[in-house]
Amino acid sequence: MSVESQLRADIVEVGRRMYARGYTASNDGNISVRLGPDRLLMTPKSVCKGFMTPDMMCITDLDGRKLQGDRDPSSEMLMHLEVYRQRNDAQAVVHAHPPTATGFAVAGIPLDRAVLAEVLTTLGSIPIAEYATPSTKELPEAVRKYIKAHDGMLLANHGALTVGADLFSAYYKMETIEHFAHISLVARILGRENLISRDEVLRLQGLRGTYGIKAPAPICASDDGQATGPVDCQVVRAPEGEGARLVAGPPSQALESFAGLGARRPGDEDEAAEIRLTYRELSQLIEDAIRALR
Ligand SMILES: [Zn+2]
Repeated sequence: MSVESQLRADIVEVGRRMYARGYTASNDGNISVRLGPDRLLMTPKSVCKGFMTPDMMCITDLDGRKLQGDRDPSSEMLMHLEVYRQRNDAQAVVHAHPPTATGFAVAGIPLDRAVLAEVLTTLGSIPIAEYATPSTKELPEAVRKYIKAHDGMLLANHGALTVGADLFSAYYKMETIEHFAHISLVARILGRENLISRDEVLRLQGLRGTYGIKAPAPICASDDGQATGPVDCQVVRAPEGEGARLVAGPPSQALESFAGLGARRPGDEDEAAEIRLTYRELSQLIEDAIRALR
């Protein structure tokens, strides 16, 4: 099988997995891969990513001119072109709307807390690119701020974007982001995120070299301040640990609102805040929480 045939088949497979895992609905999402120094192989617009065939793909140059294919290239082609322009090392770009990560993107909550050791070692943090109208040239402009320092980001009120040294590595980063978002959501519903301390974060960063992980930028020295121009390091929210590797995080807002509905937190000092729930109200709260976990 030629390299091109293999890549066409690989895009079909990645699209099938994204659709099967619910990362895209209907015709959402798009995938591209470098075919040569100045050629890209890309999904076409208006097709469901779960049911593509290899012959559907388009070949374009890096300026977005279609060179081959019966269909028009993805409506988000401009965003893909921007990534390849900014990142010589990027061989593939994946865009999808995985529901939990996209929920964070809608809530305006970046996935930048020091929570999971493996995510810190690989992706570092996942920021949110500012809201931009999909398929316009606003979107590449929003992505430009973060793409030099990040292999994955959320797109405000839209979805997520990942890049990789090959197609499957870009796709697996999308899986990691959605998995990370799901775990973060569960921890927040449970009421607490114990954070990895800054010292431990730096130790984990040291492992990148050991394992040959090519992160596009280092973790920022501190977690305060947002650059206005393109960022050149990864902001990770990690508290000083004073020797501890894990630092108890604040109770989550989810629990605060849960408490607001009547449940008392352990250690709540204010006895007067107690509100009794009927069995039916309590069942409803539990059902809502379980639904949110799914
Ligand atoms: Zn999209």
